[in-house]
Order: sequence, then structure tokens, then C-alpha cells
Amino acid sequence: MSTGAAALREAFGPGRARTGAPLAPLTTFKLGGPADVLLEAESVADIRRAVEIARDFWMPVSVLGGGSNILVADAGVRGLVIRVRRGEIRAIGEGLVRADAGVTINGLVRWTIGRGLASLEAWAGTPGTVGGALYGNAHFHGRNIGDLVAGASVLAADGRVQELEAGEMEFGYDSSRLQRTGEVVLSADFLVTRGNPELLRETARTSLAYRKRTQPLASPSAGCIFQNPDPARDRVPEGIPWSAGALVDRAGLKGLQEGGARVSPTHANFIVNEGTADAQSVRRLIERCKAVVLERFGVHLREEIVYLGFEGQPVSRSIAAEG
Ligand SMILES: Cc1cc2nc3c(=O)[nH]c(=O)nc-3n(C[C@H](O)[C@H](O)[C@H](O)COP(=O)(O)OP(=O)(O)OC[C@H]3O[C@@H](n4cnc5c(N)ncnc54)[C@H](O)[C@@H]3O)c2cc1C
Repeated sequence: MSTGAAALREAFGPGRARTGAPLAPLTTFKLGGPADVLLEAESVADIRRAVEIARDFWMPVSVLGGGSNILVADAGVRGLVIRVRRGEIRAIGEGLVRADAGVTINGLVRWTIGRGLASLEAWAGTPGTVGGALYGNAHFHGRNIGDLVAGASVLAADGRVQELEAGEMEFGYDSSRLQRTGEVVLSADFLVTRGNPELLRETARTSLAYRKRTQPLASPSAGCIFQNPDPARDRVPEGIPWSAGALVDRAGLKGLQEGGARVSPTHANFIVNEGTADAQSVRRLIERCKAVVLERFGVHLREEIVYLGFEGQPVSRSIAAEG
């Protein structure tokens, strides 16, 4: 065991800082290898302490929320993985609700609807946490969750906590400043208005029904694999919708299989794990889709999912390594 791992186990106890901990069950894809050390963070203090220890020992740090938008390498993830789960939700004044990073989007939707607060109801059924949603600026039906964010509290590489305003979050399509800085979200403030709980519930039900109708929810997946084409960079042939799913579909790739991974016959932008998929088979399938779409339509598909533990992928952009 590395000295960093030993220090984390001493600080948090071996039950909470686990070495060689399997990550597959903590992802919606249900695949991938173990973390060198996995910490289940229960508070902001936990996150700060773990990051501090990792920095002292030059351990790379990766952050995991609901694990619903990631592909974990078969060899697992080196260094420390902090799993940010749970937390509090509270009203912090008229029109503002603060949610800790580990709160699930579904939990936040239920909480706000129950109090007659409108704005998040259409996000019902979005897997994952507040932290993960801010990281990738989660989107649904052409709307971005960043549009509802008034500000966020983040932990920077040097251990400082910063309060950022929405304008400083650099929200864009599928992007935020967090992808550049490696900061960890601790909490976020959402803009809300007064609403009728019955009407809000109806909107939430409509979203859930839409997801059920259009997404392969019975099989493990990580949601949409590819980003939609960018009008500023890409040229999509006439007659094909500007959507990654449409491009994969029109290229005839629905149902394509690599090992236990398959392009969903229900939604061409989903890859499903049919039970025996590993990360390599998913990656091979992703590369095949990209190659065929490029050849057929001249469009470079870019991944929406985040790779964890792959060479040259986000683990090296960890806050500890940069600190
Ligand atoms: C069935 C299904 C449907 C989906 N539908 C949608 C949809 O409609 N719209 C959409 O946008 N996405 C959708 N997704 C993808 C996914 O739900 C979102 O991207 C979600 O916001 C990811 O959150 P997470 O907590 O699971 O993040 P994770 O998958 O755990 O992590 C994703 C990234 O966020 C980072 N991260 C997580 N927490 C923090 C934190 N506290 N601080 C800093 N970085 C953090 C991680 O390091 C990683 O880089 C879907 C996924 C599935 C499986």
C-alpha cells in the first residue's frame, strides 16, 4: 500500500478509505476496474481533508458523483477517487436554493416540487448529482442546467474554497470551467420561483415519460455517448438533423456490437452494456461509430462521456497533481 493510501486510511478509517475498491457498481455502465483508494466523502470537511492528504503525498485525485456519465478503464483509476454523495438542500433567501454537490438531481427536483418551487421540475429523471451536472452543464430538451445556477462554491487546487458567480462558471454546451480547472464543486445555488406543486409534478411526470419512451433505461449505460455537432465547427449534410444520435442512426450503426457492448437499438446515441461489456469493448465501439460517421458524413463526433483512468485522460488533470 502506498504511504498516501495509508495516511488516508488512518485519517478516515479503513471502512471509508478503501483500497482496491471496485468502481463498476458505482457507475451506471456497471463496468471498469477498481480505485487505488476510494473515499466516500460525507461532508465538505471530508473532501478538503482528503484533497489535502492526497496533495501531501502527490496522489492524483479524481472525483466521482453518481457515475452516470463516465467510462472507467478496465485497469481502474490510480490514486484517490473521492465519491461525493448526499448532502443538504436549503432555501437561502427568496428565489434561491442551495444544494450540496452530492445531492442527486432527482432529490433536488423532489425537494423543490414539494415546496412549490419551480425551475428544476423538467429535470426529473436526470441521473447523477449536482456536482456532475455542473461539471458537464447537463442539458435536456435544449436547455442547460447552468441557466438555473446563480453561483457555486468550489474547492480549488490549492485548497482554497471560492464562491463563484454564474458568469464565472464558463457554462457552455456540455462544458464548464471545472473541466479546465479541476476544481471540486462543494455546493451550488439554484434560481427558483413560486409554482403550483400539482403543475410542477405534471411537468416532472411528462419528462419521466419522455425518457421512458425514448431511452433504453432497462440496460446499464452512461446516457448519451457523443455531443451533438457544433454549428461553429461542424458541417452536417443537408437533410440530417444536427444530432449525434441521428448521425449514428443514419450511418446504420444501431445494434452494432463489440463484445458485450451494443449501440442501443432504441436510441443511437446510447451504448448499452448487455451484461459482459468491458471498457475496452465500449471504447472500440465508440471508435467504430466515430470512424463510420466521419467517413459517411464528414462529421467528427466528440465524446460527451468522461473517461476515467485511461492514459492521457482526466485523472492526470486531477487537482492534486496540479496543486
Ligand atoms: C439513462 C441516462 C440518462 C441521461 N440523461 C441525461 C440528460 O438528459 N442530460 C444530460 O446532460 N445528461 C444525461 N445523462 C448523463 C449524466 O446523467 C449527466 O451527465 C450527469 O450530470 C452526470 O452526473 P454524475 O454525478 O453522475 O457525474 P459522474 O458521472 O460521476 O461524473 C461526471 C464528471 O463530473 C465530474 N464531477 C462529478 N462530481 C463532481 C464534483 N462535485 N465536482 C467537480 N466535478 C465533479 C467527474 O469528475 C466527471 O468528470 C444521462 C445518463 C444516463 C445513464
